[in-house]
Amino acid sequence: MTDEFAVGTARAARGTSVRGAIPVGLDASGRLREIPVLICRGEGDGPVLWINGATHGDEPEGALSIFKLFAGLRPADLRGTVVGVPAMNVPAFEAGKRGDPLDTFSHDMNRIYPGRPDGYPTERAAWAHWEAMRVACDLQIAIHSGGEHSYLAHMIFASDNPPSLELAAAMGPQWDLVFRSGVGGANPSSKIAELGKAGITVELGGNCRTLTLDFHAVAEDLAGSYANVLRHYGMLDGEARYAARLRMGHQQALLAPASGMWVGGAEVPFETEIPAGTPLGRVYDLYGEVQAEVAAPVDGVVFGLRSRPAVLAGEWCCFFGIIEEVRENSWTGDASNG
Ligand SMILES: [Zn+2]
Repeated sequence: MTDEFAVGTARAARGTSVRGAIPVGLDASGRLREIPVLICRGEGDGPVLWINGATHGDEPEGALSIFKLFAGLRPADLRGTVVGVPAMNVPAFEAGKRGDPLDTFSHDMNRIYPGRPDGYPTERAAWAHWEAMRVACDLQIAIHSGGEHSYLAHMIFASDNPPSLELAAAMGPQWDLVFRSGVGGANPSSKIAELGKAGITVELGGNCRTLTLDFHAVAEDLAGSYANVLRHYGMLDGEARYAARLRMGHQQALLAPASGMWVGGAEVPFETEIPAGTPLGRVYDLYGEVQAEVAAPVDGVVFGLRSRPAVLAGEWCCFFGIIEEVRENSWTGDASNG
């Protein structure tokens, strides 16, 4: 019997860091299409934390944060295994687009997961990934952001089962906005939760923050949160930190009421509760006339704003959260604030 941990072509003995890939199929020139995979496997036993980046190809925060985590991970310090998939949807990542531009029928990998072995191109890639992940993974984190159209602040969609809510709480003090999402839906977090495992979808960043120090700051925030998760589950030594309270609720999409140029308010606070009626932004026509104003529909929290000014009526302009419950964080073991 071999004591080997394998994901695709990546095969990790205890106490090693390896790389490999999940094979997807052949391209037109006969070359293998594949999804790159990093594995760091500790000497000792522990869970498998699996981190997915760039399910949407215009969201590179997952990739950079995975690189930063792995740069600081040593197998000798680790109990259990960390699997990093910097870009789940490689053709979409190459194009810098949400989905693979060559695939019009299963464009959004986060809506068709786990795909089908004999389906459309993105469905095949999703299926190859799912077949690799479903057995190996205990704890799954999918990293998302506002991509090419928006900026999103710290926000977690946690699949509605106890392991997922624990994983959300383990991300650390800055992650106190945690909204429940369904189990069994067509995205990786939801599918893995259907197996009784932990699956969360984490939002942070957007193309307006992929420059110089700012990009690093976003990625280090995420990488530090993965390290906090590793400490929470005893996979790394050290004390995990937690938010004192978790604000839970649901999101409401605020859509542009008119077409034109969206300009977010200069002082809209992210992640802070604001009263109904607080102005959030305006849509101008191309003569400079205000065509519509967008305000908080009820008391709530702005966790994202559109960052691409050109807007069509009906497109996202604000990611608004309505808090239904503030719960004491049962995991909090220290004096960290929230
Ligand atoms: Zn996304």
